[in-house]
Amino acid sequence: MTQLPEAEVTRKGLASEVVGKRVTSTEVTTASLVRHQRNRPELYKRLEGRKISGASRRGTAVMLELEDDTTFVIQMGSRAWITHHKASATPDKTVRMVLLFASSGALHYHDQNKDGALFVVGDDEVDELPELAPGGIDPLADVFTWQAFSSKLVELGLPLRAALVDRRVLLGLGDVYADEILWTAGISGARDASQLSAQEVRRLYRGVLEVINEAVKQGGASASETQERTEEDDPDDVPSSFLRVHGRQGEPCPRCRHAVQLEDVAGHLSFHCPQCQT
Ligand SMILES: [Zn+2]
Repeated sequence: MTQLPEAEVTRKGLASEVVGKRVTSTEVTTASLVRHQRNRPELYKRLEGRKISGASRRGTAVMLELEDDTTFVIQMGSRAWITHHKASATPDKTVRMVLLFASSGALHYHDQNKDGALFVVGDDEVDELPELAPGGIDPLADVFTWQAFSSKLVELGLPLRAALVDRRVLLGLGDVYADEILWTAGISGARDASQLSAQEVRRLYRGVLEVINEAVKQGGASASETQERTEEDDPDDVPSSFLRVHGRQGEPCPRCRHAVQLEDVAGHLSFHCPQCQT
């Protein structure tokens, strides 16, 4: 699943591979992914001939800044990834967009569930887009302080496990990292998010930073998606080696050796340790 760390790894790849290149042609095979533009030709017109001047990110949207003060937004789908190729490479079945560059090379946008979005907007419009500003904090950017995090948790008053994956609290976190963050902090996801002590919020805050930064360093939990893979591969079935509890039902907890459980916590199937997460 594409979450914040995977989007950040994608942004880094784009920053080193395509910044400075000029788009010569674009092809989108799934028309429903195009938003804010009337149709695909209108999107192509806003991309073709433009040079890419930077790569940024907000939540799971990666953005290519174009030289004419516009931004190409790639809102990554729930199972999406980007690969870099020679211009002559044949796109596989999951590719929904191909960008070709003047200096040779191609970028393939893969989107297994076809639920991402592709569009170009003016730089000044980016902040106004409701899909990019759902109110949550981006823990890798913005001013992410434990106090700001604390007030978001109190405001919504949800069970903790639900609050961590709510876009009004944090951007781009899904089940994998929510499980890891709660385990790292040693807190149960069933707890009421508005009832944590200041010390517990700080532990959770440190857990968010630790887990997210480690995941970026490791290339994301679904790093295999950026390499060659087959249709049968399901990245969620194979726990990445740096994950401590997610996908590890029945294995001993790395902290207390009690078996890791898979249970419904606040409406979310969660991997957790019932002994040391309290
Ligand atoms: Zn444990």
